[in-house]
Amino acid sequence: LFVSDPITPGCEIELAPEQSHYLEHVMRLKPGTPIKIFNGRDGEWLATIAHLRKKKGTLAVDRLLRDQIVERGPMLAFAPIKKQRLDFLIEKAVEMGVGTLQPIVTAHGITDKVRLDRLHAQVIEAAEQCERLTVPEIAPPVKLLDWLSDWPENRHLLFCDETGSGSPIGEVLSQLLAKRAGSAIDNVNVVNHAIVIGPEGGFSADEIERIRKQSFATPVSLGPRILRAETAAIAALSVFQDRLGD
Ligand code: SAM
Repeated sequence: LFVSDPITPGCEIELAPEQSHYLEHVMRLKPGTPIKIFNGRDGEWLATIAHLRKKKGTLAVDRLLRDQIVERGPMLAFAPIKKQRLDFLIEKAVEMGVGTLQPIVTAHGITDKVRLDRLHAQVIEAAEQCERLTVPEIAPPVKLLDWLSDWPENRHLLFCDETGSGSPIGEVLSQLLAKRAGSAIDNVNVVNHAIVIGPEGGFSADEIERIRKQSFATPVSLGPRILRAETAAIAALSVFQDRLGD
């Protein structure tokens, strides 16, 4: 269970009303039940439900189970897609070790609206489920072209291009690993990579041209078929996890 408070031995943690409701009525847990908690900073702890009733709950913190680990991960830049598919994309990206989620507004995107509070709740739920000790960051939505203009010097962009202009993503990542020595960009530092996936309608011709022109961008292929945006995100992250992941 994710808690936002600091966790120290012997401390008591007050649960949010919705967490209390979830533990009492969905999980049907009772006071005295042990539960694992984390806050993204202090590691994983064993706690006991001290009190749980009517949307109020407290936990008594017992002992440290796992030290905090640094879970580095690439950025995933994605154009918001329809709700259910976006939910799926977010959940799987968290499981696959994404470090930062960056919504991008593109010409063919179906919407430029994303509910960041909703995304945040989903990210926490997915992190709890897969027992990550960190919660990926969610950056505020940004227009694709502005995002490209403000590019940090040391970041590398893996541009998922379904038109086949790039080499297979696994090959590109393996070559980066091989070239690591003497490279100006620390290409193997996973947080320096951003994977960009287009919307349902793909990137516009202008956007593709603009991305291709950037010296920091490498077009990559995810195979000969056109994948749905959420499938493309999972495929790219799973190959990334395989080649460069912790
Ligand atoms: N119309 C489908 C949908 O509703 O999701 C297909 C969307 S596809 C155009 C969305 C994005 O996935 C593309 O912009 C690209 O970034 C990525 N993508 C899909 N298939 C790919 C492939 N074979 N190689 C590289 N990227 C791919």
